Amino acid sequence: MSVDTQIWTTIDFEKQGKQIGFLGVPQSTNTAGWATQYLPIAVIKNGSGPTALFFGGNHGDEYEGTVTLPKLARAIDPAQVQGRIIMIPMLNSPAGQAGTRLSPVDGKNMNRAFPGERNGTITSIIAHYVYNALFPMADLVVDIHSGGRSILFATSVNMHHVANPKQMQGMIDSGIAWGAPCVFVYRDVGGEGLLPSHAEALGKITLGTELGSAAQFSPEILRITETGVYNVLRLHKILEGTPTAAAQEPQVVGATEREDYIMAPVSGIFEPFFDLEDQVRAGQPIGQIHNMEEPFNEPRVIHAETDGMVMGRRALPLTRQGDCVMVLVRPFSL
Ligand SMILES: [Zn+2]
Repeated sequence: MSVDTQIWTTIDFEKQGKQIGFLGVPQSTNTAGWATQYLPIAVIKNGSGPTALFFGGNHGDEYEGTVTLPKLARAIDPAQVQGRIIMIPMLNSPAGQAGTRLSPVDGKNMNRAFPGERNGTITSIIAHYVYNALFPMADLVVDIHSGGRSILFATSVNMHHVANPKQMQGMIDSGIAWGAPCVFVYRDVGGEGLLPSHAEALGKITLGTELGSAAQFSPEILRITETGVYNVLRLHKILEGTPTAAAQEPQVVGATEREDYIMAPVSGIFEPFFDLEDQVRAGQPIGQIHNMEEPFNEPRVIHAETDGMVMGRRALPLTRQGDCVMVLVRPFSL
C-alpha cells in the first residue's frame, strides 16, 4: 500500500505481533527548522480477522481514550487477537500536550479537519493520513470523546443516523455492546469535517463517545471507557469472549431535530435549571443567561422548543452567544 502523504511511520501494518511506534509529522518551528511531531501508535496483529481502529485525543482536552488505549496495548497479548487493532491515543498530540481542545499549532479542530489535506497545516496533514492511510484498513472505527471542559454529557456511545440499515444496525449493536448507559444518535449542528462522519460515509462500523467530562475524570467513567473498548472488540470477534453485561440496560436515544440543540441567545453566564437525565417539556425554561455588563438586569431566560431528556448541558459558566447550552434527546428506534 502506498499513500501519498508527508507522514512517515516506524510501523509495518502487515507485520504479526505487537508494535509500539510513531507516526512522524513534519513540523518546523522557530527553534527547530527540521523537526517532527511524533504521534504514538500501537498495532497488534494476529491471524486473520477484522481491523479495529481506535482514536483518543481527537480533542486535546479529552483524555479518556488517551489513558485507556495504552492500557489496552500493554495488556493484550497478540495471541489473544484475531485480526488487527490499531490505536492512536492522542490524535491531536499538540493539543493534548497543551490541554486545549484545538491545536495550539494551527488553531484547528481535528474533528472538523476531515478528509484533510496532504499539504495543509499540521492538523489537516494528520487528518489526511488517517483518511487515506488508516481508514482503508479499518472495518471498525472508534473515536473516543468526552465533553471536554465545556460540556457535561450523559455517559454515551454515539453515531449519526446513516442510510444503510445494515451499517446502522451494526453501529447500534456495537454501541449497546459497549455497555455505557446511553447510545446516542446525533446530528451535526457544529459544522462538517468530523472524523466519524467520514468513516461512516465509507461504510465503516463507526462509534464515537461522549464520556461525561466537564473536565472531570472519574474512576467510573474510565472503567466504562475500558470495558467498552474490550466489549466492542469481543463483539467483533477480534478478542475472545462475549461482551460483559452493562449494569443497566443501555437506552437508545436520539437528538434528531436542530431545536434539540439549544444555543445561547446572548453572551453571559449560563445558569442551568436542569441536570443530566432530567425530563424537559417544550416551552419550559431550561436555564438563563446573566448579563455580565449589567448584572442587575433580569437574566435572559431560555426555553426548550422540544420535549426530551437532558443528554448534555454546558458546564463552563462563561458562555458566548451561539454556544450550545443543552441537548435534549428522546427514545430512538430504527
Ligand atoms: Zn471531543
